[in-house]
Amino acid sequence: MTAEILAVGTEILMGQIANTNAQYISRRLAELGINVYFHTVVGDNAGRLEETLKRALSRSDIVITTGGLGPTKDDLTKETISRALNRNLVLHEDILEKIKNYFEKRNRKMSEINIKQAYLPENSIVIPNPNGTAPGCIIEDGGKMVIMLPGPPKEMQPMFDETVFNYLRQKTGIMLVSKMLKIFGIGESDIETRLMDLIENQSNPTIAPYASQGEVTIRVTACCSNHDEAAALLSPVVGEIKSRLGDFVYSEDGEPLEKVVFNLLKENRLVLATAESCTGGLLAGKITDIPGSSEVFERGYVTYSNRAKAEDLGVSWDTLNKYGAVSRETAVEMVTGLKNKTGASAGVAITGIAGPGGGTEEKPVGLVYIAAYVNDNIVCKKLQLSGNRERIRNDSCLNALDMLRR
Ligand code: ATP
Ligand code: MG
Repeated sequence: MTAEILAVGTEILMGQIANTNAQYISRRLAELGINVYFHTVVGDNAGRLEETLKRALSRSDIVITTGGLGPTKDDLTKETISRALNRNLVLHEDILEKIKNYFEKRNRKMSEINIKQAYLPENSIVIPNPNGTAPGCIIEDGGKMVIMLPGPPKEMQPMFDETVFNYLRQKTGIMLVSKMLKIFGIGESDIETRLMDLIENQSNPTIAPYASQGEVTIRVTACCSNHDEAAALLSPVVGEIKSRLGDFVYSEDGEPLEKVVFNLLKENRLVLATAESCTGGLLAGKITDIPGSSEVFERGYVTYSNRAKAEDLGVSWDTLNKYGAVSRETAVEMVTGLKNKTGASAGVAITGIAGPGGGTEEKPVGLVYIAAYVNDNIVCKKLQLSGNRERIRNDSCLNALDMLRR
């Protein structure tokens, strides 16, 4: 399939703005294997637009226009193209309603001229516009396709991504296959530095990193026609990313950290016990959220007070008085007590200051000690976490899980 991108707007011809829409659309069409042979620009002039459209349709299968869908007089793309293709414009009540809501939400009065935007060529597919008033549309005509999108990139790009891309993908029989690499223990900017050249030179597969909740996910997506082709495209890139990030990568298929730990416990026939102070059972909750967790989870203590740490886990009062509840010594005694008491083959203890109060200069909010063992080997880690209470508690759990994984 071949495509032509037809940008409508006198301001482009006058050099007032650059035609970034054509650049964006071309790049995305390349992902679908659609060849773009022409970028054309025409001013806001009905006669010249019609002439350019006809020429584009004579030499390309798909013509994608941007611009000229607004409510004003110089916005004439829809009217001109409909006339050229002998299609009437029909009113879409639901679109009119949406436009009215758009103005209401912003406390503005809709003017009469906006009604024009609720008209679309008959027998066309609507492209919703979540960020503006003018919807776009797709017309199929005698084996050719005309796709109209608005000019502002902030409106055009999401419309392209959410509707047009998928529509064309189905037409071309192309499918998207993704790998979701989950990463813990290294920040997003550090990851981007390590993967800079891969991210900059990406085409197919695409590489998209994003951070959320203390973790980073990298989505690697291949556009391809079958699963073998997907594997051939994805595996070298995924392999390269993994070799650069090492064992910070804990999953390739988007599994959360607790599921990875669950699987490891199960594979190694280990049973986990937890002793939590600042996380108050959050970790036990994450593990027991997973169906089948009874196979790998023995029990969890929430030892919030010093007395609970002493009575339930056998932490010595000497240690609590001398080093405090948030200390390496207490964390190690918590996990030792847990091990003696439960006999579980794996265990983890968390003690820390989740805030917002309770911090001191010596022991600030976010100070967390985690002690863990698998079989006999006890290790303890000191962390200085940041963020609000929720974030510190969640990050404490992730770190505890990460220690168990290693
Ligand atoms: P509106 O409802 O905002 O009028 P429209 O679909 O009528 O949208 P135009 O009036 O043609 O679009 O252009 C509106 C703005 O969108 C331009 O001023 C410009 O900032 C941007 N724009 C238009 N065409 C392009 C393009 N090809 N590349 C980049 N930006 C563009
Ligand atoms: Mg306009």
